[in-house]
Amino acid sequence: MIASPLLEHFGGYVDGQWIVTAPGGTFAVRNPATGEQLASLPCLAGEETTRAVAAAEKALQTPVSPGQRKAWLLAIHDGLLQQKQDFARIITLEHGKPLKESLTEVEYTAGFFRFFAEQIHRLEPESLPGAVTAMRWTVHHRPAGVAGLITPWNFPLAMIGKKVAPALAAGCAVIVKPAAQAPLSTMALTHVAERAGISSGRLNLIVGPSTPIGDVLCRHPAVRVISFTGSTEVGQQLIAKTASHVKRLALELGGNAPFIVFEDADLNVAVDALLANKFRAGGQTCVCTNRVYVHRQIAEAFTSAVAERVRKLRVGNGLDPQTDIGPLINRDAFDKVAAHVRDALARGARRVVGSDPPRPKDDWGAFYPPTLLTDVTPEMLVCREETFGPVVAMMTFADEPSVIEAANSTPYGLAAYVFTKDAARAGRVIARLSFGHVGLNTGASPRPEAPFGGMKQSGFGREGGWEGLLEFCETQVVAGA
Ligand code: NAP
Repeated sequence: MIASPLLEHFGGYVDGQWIVTAPGGTFAVRNPATGEQLASLPCLAGEETTRAVAAAEKALQTPVSPGQRKAWLLAIHDGLLQQKQDFARIITLEHGKPLKESLTEVEYTAGFFRFFAEQIHRLEPESLPGAVTAMRWTVHHRPAGVAGLITPWNFPLAMIGKKVAPALAAGCAVIVKPAAQAPLSTMALTHVAERAGISSGRLNLIVGPSTPIGDVLCRHPAVRVISFTGSTEVGQQLIAKTASHVKRLALELGGNAPFIVFEDADLNVAVDALLANKFRAGGQTCVCTNRVYVHRQIAEAFTSAVAERVRKLRVGNGLDPQTDIGPLINRDAFDKVAAHVRDALARGARRVVGSDPPRPKDDWGAFYPPTLLTDVTPEMLVCREETFGPVVAMMTFADEPSVIEAANSTPYGLAAYVFTKDAARAGRVIARLSFGHVGLNTGASPRPEAPFGGMKQSGFGREGGWEGLLEFCETQVVAGA
């Protein structure tokens, strides 16, 4: 069992009270590296979710001043940073990623609380210039209401933070539903929010099976916003379930990121960026490169430089400081990655680095060796689907139009990366890429200050930036004297 000063209670949090037992029994949270049981949590479900919505509705009847909201956010920011090591350890234990990555995740999360605390003043009513008409026109940004926040396991803390911070900044009350695979970081964040003095019902946490919880959030008339991060398949279900209620959705869905290296690129920069981007969280991030397109003139040099670096990556327990790549989240994830690699090899890809690991006996210990495939072609699964594992799938291209077409030939549109020293070419290419986040000569991740989100089936809505705050506001215009 996990022991942490941030985890005094194991369960959900509704109307300012922890719920540590439930009629639905319990579920176990395990360390994906070792299988050790970290916690046994109550299976909260529809009834508790309905209570949480009622508590959130009630909380909204007492508006909270901008100054108080700012104070809460800054206190949570400080709490995160003061207990950075404890948070990072929880993330690594429940997700498996290396501790150094978990520390970065805590700092990244704290950044959202600071950023949105500093944006609250922008919600002040704004009068339109007198020239508009003879009347006075005022634009208000009202809290959108009760918000349901549903997140995946791959950034157990950051995915929650980037939703909770703008929602509270906007004056909403929230119900958080983390992934059952990794809910402990959210419980720790709730603990910090409680310590920050957040009033009852403003922040509620429900842990348990996704369908009853998600269904209440989708169907309850008081829930006005659902902000979801996860797979495109579940995002599509949420669209269908909320359609008749005309709820506002913000959907951060799957990706299939292209990484394009032109012949004039700085190869060292591109190789460094690929390694950092591709293998973060063991390849299990939505912005991880999925397809690498290298200009054929430099393909040999680039491949051998990447291969040399990939061979040096160390796979192991995230708590070991030597580890670069932790385990995959579970055996299903392992099976998917292995199936993608098998499919690629059967269709003619060449495995330059990697091997066939044994299938894990259990749902943990799913260590997959970092793999480099070349001679990849568009019909292979590694190209068509999000692999979500430590596999570099590389192919070559001959010219600009063909690589733009290839990069866009996916239903997804989340992140893309372009490497070239030619600014004019960069401008031309990027303008034609249908991806919401583009790295130019960098594989860098999103930042709290910048709006992040997808195009096409990667979803809609933005997280981060002023746009991220507006996802939780309703605009109301008052015209008149
Ligand atoms: P997932 O299976 O879609 O689950 C995401 C969340 O939705 C979890 O909390 C899950 O709960 C819950 N859920 C599942 N079915 C539901 C339903 N019918 N109704 C309501 N909630 C439901 O995704 P995942 O496997 O955890 O995460 C990986 C995916 O997330 C990848 O596709 C990745 O690209 C995407 N992602 C996108 C972004 C982005 O910013 N665009 C960021 C990170 C990840 P349980 O797990 O408890 O069942």
